[in-house]
Amino acid sequence: MDEPPGKKATIKDLLGNRCRYCEDVVMDEASASITHSYWSGFPFICHKSCKDEGVKLEAFDCQTIDADCNDCKHYERGVLAPETVSQLKRTDGRIVEVVHKPNVFIGGCCLKFNRTTVASPNKWSGYECFEHRRL
Ligand SMILES: [Zn+2]
Repeated sequence: MDEPPGKKATIKDLLGNRCRYCEDVVMDEASASITHSYWSGFPFICHKSCKDEGVKLEAFDCQTIDADCNDCKHYERGVLAPETVSQLKRTDGRIVEVVHKPNVFIGGCCLKFNRTTVASPNKWSGYECFEHRRL
């Protein structure tokens, strides 16, 4: 894309001019903000005034589709699973350590069925027993 020398790309140049949440045109930089999609984290433009409510509603919708214990009203939170360290041998023979930080909560409890459960934020589980904690 050709631009006049010295002109900095604006938010609208990069992300278009339609608000992610209300779909109206974002008229100026002063009322614009950047938001990110819930699952993939892609950047989008939105009105500053739409952002807080839009982020909340999108999260609620996506969490309802995910239907994981993490956002269920019957879930009693466990603890974040500990990170694990593996050793891998590279093709040049060197050993390197790889740290894995799982984004999973273990040791939690489903109070609906009175059993331990694992919760995975931002992951689709599709549990039919799911009821959003904000309902
Ligand atoms: Zn808007």
